Amino acid sequence: RAYNFNAGPAAIPLEVLQQAQAEFIDYDGAGMALMEMSHRSATYEKVNQEAQDLLRELMNIPDNYKILFLQGGASTQFAMIPMNFLSEGKVGAYVDTGAWAGKAIKEAKTVGEAVIAASSKEDSYMRVPQASEIVVPENAAYVHVTSNETIGGVQYKAFPELGNVPLIADMSSDILSRPVDVSKFGLIYAGAQKNLGPSGVTVVIVREDLIAESPKSIPTMLRYDTHAKANSLYNTPPSFAVYMVGLVLKWIKAKGGLAEVERYNLNKTKLIYDVIDESNGFYEGCANKEDRSPMNITFRIQGKNEELEKKFVKESEAAGFVGLKGHRDVGGLRASTYNAVPLESCEALAKFMKEFQARNA
Ligand code: PLP
Repeated sequence: RAYNFNAGPAAIPLEVLQQAQAEFIDYDGAGMALMEMSHRSATYEKVNQEAQDLLRELMNIPDNYKILFLQGGASTQFAMIPMNFLSEGKVGAYVDTGAWAGKAIKEAKTVGEAVIAASSKEDSYMRVPQASEIVVPENAAYVHVTSNETIGGVQYKAFPELGNVPLIADMSSDILSRPVDVSKFGLIYAGAQKNLGPSGVTVVIVREDLIAESPKSIPTMLRYDTHAKANSLYNTPPSFAVYMVGLVLKWIKAKGGLAEVERYNLNKTKLIYDVIDESNGFYEGCANKEDRSPMNITFRIQGKNEELEKKFVKESEAAGFVGLKGHRDVGGLRASTYNAVPLESCEALAKFMKEFQARNA
């Protein structure tokens, strides 16, 4: 297996792939693959329910929250959130932490009024704004934060407490990487393709009272109440992706749950951050230390030396590493170390980075 540091779609645990392979052609003795089955069958209903139940158990999701499996990626949530929640006179308040927050804001503005409640733009998005900086307008329907900026490599370690306004979080790139107190949120959403499984399904965890009735004016598929009432079976769901998410959740449970996953992740990323911090400035981390992400490690070489960065990418590929080139919008280097990236891959990367420095410093 390659040392896969892709940002998304990203690594899936080998054991999960092996189990999916074993039951790929004949699922549960049915004489057909799961993806060939009716989504109205008892077999698929069980897959759908088990994935929800396991997510509820692992994230300790209270009973008054619905779990939805939707399509359209996290990008569709950028529009669905304002469509469902911005009633007459209300605004969406957004914390601008970088590229993904920016996309959420831009999309919200196509639907209604979105205001920037705080921004770290002046600090080149190297940090996340704290609660004391966030100004919530009186008519805010919600405050939106991006829990982990996949491109910039910053993460909220503790979420801002903002009173009664529902907090909405895009957790696409760090869901299930650590325990979070779901009861502090109105809505959490995440595309599956980083920590949850393959692309094709988007998970939404939402407080029931917020979605009791979506505005009549919005199309059926874009209303939360449609999917909540139908237990995510209103139309044909991405059944294979949901099944894969279920397998990933079982894998996380077998690992010991989210506290254990977090511990493992922090050990993994420490290996790489230590190389950066001890490199005498050869490697430079992009994010401020206190906010840097354990999921996306962004760094540069010798004051943005693009030639050396290109060389790093080329040589890393020859050595079996995949996905270390930074996002095209910001350049530099990035190692995405999601749950399924094993410790051994991070050990190998730390070793490669030290050797690269020794050859090129
Ligand atoms: N939000 C964050 C933080 C992301 O990292 C991504 C994708 O990388 C998205 C949103 C967009 O997700 P999707 O491609 O599922 O629409």
